[in-house]
Amino acid sequence: MAKLRFSALAKRSQRERVKIKRFNGKVSDYFGSNVFGPQAMMEYLPGDVYKKLLRSIETGDKLDISIADAVASGMRSWALSKGATHYTHWFQPLTGSTAEKHDAFFEIEDDKVIEKFKGSALVQQEPDASSFPSGGIRNTFEARGYTAWDPTSPAFIMEAQGGSTLCIPTIFVSYTGEALDHKTPLLKSIAALDKAAVAVCEYFDKDVQRVHATLGAEQEYFLVDEALYYARPDLVMCGRTLSGATPPKGQQLEDHYFGSIPTRVQDYIADFEQEVWKLGIPIRTRHNEVAPSQFECAPTFTEVNKAVDQNLLLMDVMQKVAERHNYKVLFHEKPFAGINGSGKHNNWSMGTDTGKNLLAPGKRPKDNLQFLTFFINTIKAVHDYADLLRASIASAANDHRLGANEAPPAIISVFIGTQLTEMLEALEKNTDVIEKGDNMYLKLGLNKLPEILLDNTDRNRTSPFAFTGNKFEFRAVGSSANSAAPMAILNAIVAKQLREFKRDVDAQLSKNAKKEVAIVNVLRGYISACKSILFEGNGYGDEWVEEAARRGLSNIKTTPESLHAFVAPKAIALFEETGILSKREAEARLEVSLEQYVKKVQIESRVLGDLILNQVVPAATEYQNTLIKNAKGQADLGLPKEAYQSVLDDIVEISQRLTKLRQLVEAMIEERKTCNNMPNADEMAEGYCHKVRPYLDQIRYEADKLELVVENELWPLPKYYELLFSH
Ligand code: ADP
Ligand code: MG
Repeated sequence: MAKLRFSALAKRSQRERVKIKRFNGKVSDYFGSNVFGPQAMMEYLPGDVYKKLLRSIETGDKLDISIADAVASGMRSWALSKGATHYTHWFQPLTGSTAEKHDAFFEIEDDKVIEKFKGSALVQQEPDASSFPSGGIRNTFEARGYTAWDPTSPAFIMEAQGGSTLCIPTIFVSYTGEALDHKTPLLKSIAALDKAAVAVCEYFDKDVQRVHATLGAEQEYFLVDEALYYARPDLVMCGRTLSGATPPKGQQLEDHYFGSIPTRVQDYIADFEQEVWKLGIPIRTRHNEVAPSQFECAPTFTEVNKAVDQNLLLMDVMQKVAERHNYKVLFHEKPFAGINGSGKHNNWSMGTDTGKNLLAPGKRPKDNLQFLTFFINTIKAVHDYADLLRASIASAANDHRLGANEAPPAIISVFIGTQLTEMLEALEKNTDVIEKGDNMYLKLGLNKLPEILLDNTDRNRTSPFAFTGNKFEFRAVGSSANSAAPMAILNAIVAKQLREFKRDVDAQLSKNAKKEVAIVNVLRGYISACKSILFEGNGYGDEWVEEAARRGLSNIKTTPESLHAFVAPKAIALFEETGILSKREAEARLEVSLEQYVKKVQIESRVLGDLILNQVVPAATEYQNTLIKNAKGQADLGLPKEAYQSVLDDIVEISQRLTKLRQLVEAMIEERKTCNNMPNADEMAEGYCHKVRPYLDQIRYEADKLELVVENELWPLPKYYELLFSH
C-alpha cells in the first residue's frame, strides 16, 4: 500500500478545528498596533524629530541624517515595549520573496549587556547577502550589498514565540549603488510619476503638489492540507503538481465560487486577518474563488510602495498562520492543471495630495477633462510599452496561466467598456470641437461623464488590463509575484507618457492655442495612435488571437522570449529618461530573470524525473505484477483467453506506458545536459523552454493515464480530488 499517501489521508480526516485566539475589542482597537506609524512615532519621538521624519515620509525625501539617532532610539523603545529582542532590515532581493537577517538589540559595553540601536544601524546595514542574484553586478565590483532604510514604508514588529523582531523596510543596493532589489526601481518610478503627473495637473489645478500611485492588490491562493502537501514532493519543491489525473469533478459546477467558506478555512482566514490587521494591513474582503480550494483576499488600496510591502508581508503571515491550522498556502500561479490558476490583480490609480483620484471623473466638466487626460495617457503608455509590461509579469509559473483558458492572454490589451469606447471614438472624430472651443465640454459629453461611468457596470474578466470605473486593474500579474516589478514599469511608462503629453501641449500653447483646445487636440491624436490596444471582446477566444495579430499587437507566450523587452533600446531609453534603472541594471535584471527561469524549469524537470522513477514506475510495476499473477492463474485454470483478455490488455498498456515513461525521462535528462552546456543564460533559457519543458507535459500525460489504471491502494501520490476537496 502507498503508506505515505494513506497516512496523510488519515491525518487529514482526523483534523479538528484549531481554536483561535480572538483579540479583545474592536478591530480599530488593535489595528496597526505592531506598526511604527504616526501614532507610535508621536509617542516615542521628540516633537521636532517627529515632524522632520513625517516630512521626509510625505515627500519621499532622504531622511535628515542628524535625526537618525533619535529616531532609532525611539523606535528601539517602542520595539522593546512590544517584546522585540531583535531587529532586521527587511528587503526584497530579485529572488521574488523577502529577506531578513536578524541582529539582537543588545550590545556588550564594559562587560555589561545593554539594549542599543544606533541611528547608523537603522539607516544602513551591510548584510553581505552575497548569495542573492545580482546579474553579474556584484562580481566585477565589490561583493558587498547594502540595505538602506525606506522611511516611506513603516517599520513593524513580526511576532514570534521566542521573541519578536523589529523589521525595517529597506532597499538593497550594491557597493557601487546599483539596485539589487525590486524596491529601488519602484521608489524611483514613484518619484518619476509624481513629478510628471504634477506637471500635467498644473493645467487643471495649481494646488496639486504631489501625485502618488495607488495600489490595491487582490491576492488569490489555494489551501491544501499540510499532510497531503508533504506527501507530494512536487508541491514541496515546485509549489505545483507535476502530475495528477483530472478528477471527475473539478470546477465545472462553479459551486465553489462565492460559496460559503468551509469552517476550517474560515478559522484560518479569521486568524491571519487578525494578525495582518495588527500590522496595519487593511484586508477587507475574503471569498471563495472559482476553483475548488481557491480563495481570495483583498485590502483597501494605499500608496503603491506601502501596498507592495503590505502584500509581501501578507503572504508571509498567511504562510505562517497556515501552520497553526495544518494548511499550506499555494501562491503558485498554476498549482493544478485543468482548473483555474491564481493571479494578483493589481488595481492601480493615481491620487493627488488634494485628495483627488486622477482616474475618477469629477463633478465639473473641467475635472473630466483632467480625468480624460490621465485616462488616455495611461492607455497610450500601455499601447506603446505593451511588451515591457508583458515582460514585467513574466515568470515560468505565470506562463502556465497566461493564455490558459481562465486567465488573461499573453496579449496585452485594454478594456474600457462600450460607453467610454464610444466616447473616445466621438472625441477622435469630432473635428468641429476645435473651432468651437466654448461648448467643447458639452460637445464631448464631458458634462455627463460621471453618470456614464456610474451606469457602466460593464465587466470583462478576460482583459489583462481593464478600466473599472476609477482605476485600472492589471490582471495579468501572477499570484506569487512581487507587484513592485510590474508597478515600477507601469509608473515609469505613464510618467514617460505624461512628460510627452506636457511637451505636446506646451508646443501647441506656444502657438497661442487655447489651453483646453490644445489638450483635447493632443488627446485626439493619442486616441488615433493607440486605439488598436482597446479590446472589448472575449480575450479568451481564438478569434482574438487572430484579430490581435491583424492589429499588430504582440502575443508573447513564453518568458525567455518576453524578457528581452527589458533591454530593447526603447526600454533602456525609458529607464534612463525616468531614471528608474540604468542600462547595466536592466541588463542585470534580464540575466537574473533568465537564470531564475532556467532554475525553476530545471528543478521541475528533476523533481518530475525522480517522481516518475521512484514512485510512479514502482507502483505501476507492482500493480502489473498483480495482473500478471492473475492472468497466469486464469490460464492455469484453463480458462479461455477471452476470459482474461482485458487483464492482458491492461498489462500491455502498463508495459507500453512504462517503457514510454522511461524513454521520456531519459531523453529529458539528455536534453537538460545539452542545455546546461549552452554558452549563455539566453540560450539556456530558450533550451529549457522549448526543449526541456515539453517533456514535462508528455511525461505527465503518461503518468496521469497510469494513475487511472493502477489500483487506488497502490497509488503513492495524493490525488487531485483528495487535494482539492479536503476541507
Ligand atoms: P472589484 O471587486 O470591482 O474588483 P473593489 O472595489 O472590490 O473592486 O476593489 C478592488 C481593489 O481595488 C481593492 O483592493 C480596492 O481597494 C482597490 N481600489 C479601489 N480604488 C482604488 C484606487 N483608486 N487605486 C487603487 N486601487 C483601488
Ligand atoms: Mg477586481
